[in-house]
Amino acid sequence: MDRNELALIISELYGSVEGNTVDYTDPSDGQEKKLVMYDEPIFGISDATDPLYGSFKSESIIGPWYRTPAEWLEGAHSVISVFFPASAAVREANRRSSRTASREWAYARIEGQRFIGAFMTELAARLSEQGIKCIYPSGDPGFFSITAGKGSGDSPKDPETGLYPGASDTTFGSCWSERHAAFVSGLGTFGMSRGLITRRGMAGRYGSLVTDADLQPDTRDYTDPYEYCIKCGACAKRCPVGAIPKDAPKDHTICAPWITATQRELAPRYGCGLCQTDVPCEYQIPKRND
Ligand code: SF4
Ligand code: SF4
Repeated sequence: MDRNELALIISELYGSVEGNTVDYTDPSDGQEKKLVMYDEPIFGISDATDPLYGSFKSESIIGPWYRTPAEWLEGAHSVISVFFPASAAVREANRRSSRTASREWAYARIEGQRFIGAFMTELAARLSEQGIKCIYPSGDPGFFSITAGKGSGDSPKDPETGLYPGASDTTFGSCWSERHAAFVSGLGTFGMSRGLITRRGMAGRYGSLVTDADLQPDTRDYTDPYEYCIKCGACAKRCPVGAIPKDAPKDHTICAPWITATQRELAPRYGCGLCQTDVPCEYQIPKRND
């Protein structure tokens, strides 16, 4: 397996995996329409033993609950990170929103995430057919997230606090991070909104596989985790609840409750992402004079 073979499989799966299109009613004119949620993905490859993965266990980055590729898969050799750019229809709808996310954005978050899960599962199956061992951490039964200190699913709990051991009520994280895998895999750097700025911009979602495939890692053309962010403050201005401070990354303790609250208008879906649309990094890596 080399990069070109992998590119061919990913391109073919984009055309064959079902679920990237939903039927919806356009709220602006009441017409039934079809929404394609994601454009063809791009991908990056990293060395599973890259020391950056181990560094994410630091409390100041993700935390000790983070699992490195080797902890997901014995003999892990490479990580494949796939970025699914939100379609123009999804982005444009969210650009028009100033408080609650558009219905289109919410579809891309919920139904779109299901599509991405199906895509990554099928990609793992294709690689397995070639004798490659794969784990899709975000879709694995062992995956858990921590929201305001509380672990999801069957994750351990401190008997006294009910929180994940060692976490506080301001802890947000998970045992695997798609954005961090994408950063190590050369796809882009973080922005003040904590999304990742790629060559296809920030608006979109990720999936990744930990594999034992002997793939050549991609080169990172950055060293600073925030190198592509021009600190323009546009995302902070777009945020309806002031979750992005003037000169610091997003505050999860403000953002997360707001995203949950959007269910009042978007149920059974939810979402926000206003900070990822109508900003200089929405579609591309912004230039310093943007
Ligand atoms: S909108 Fe500006 S400050 Fe916010 S992440 Fe994008 S480039 Fe950085
Ligand atoms: S920081 Fe959170 S609440 Fe603010 S715009 Fe971004 S997703 Fe929405």
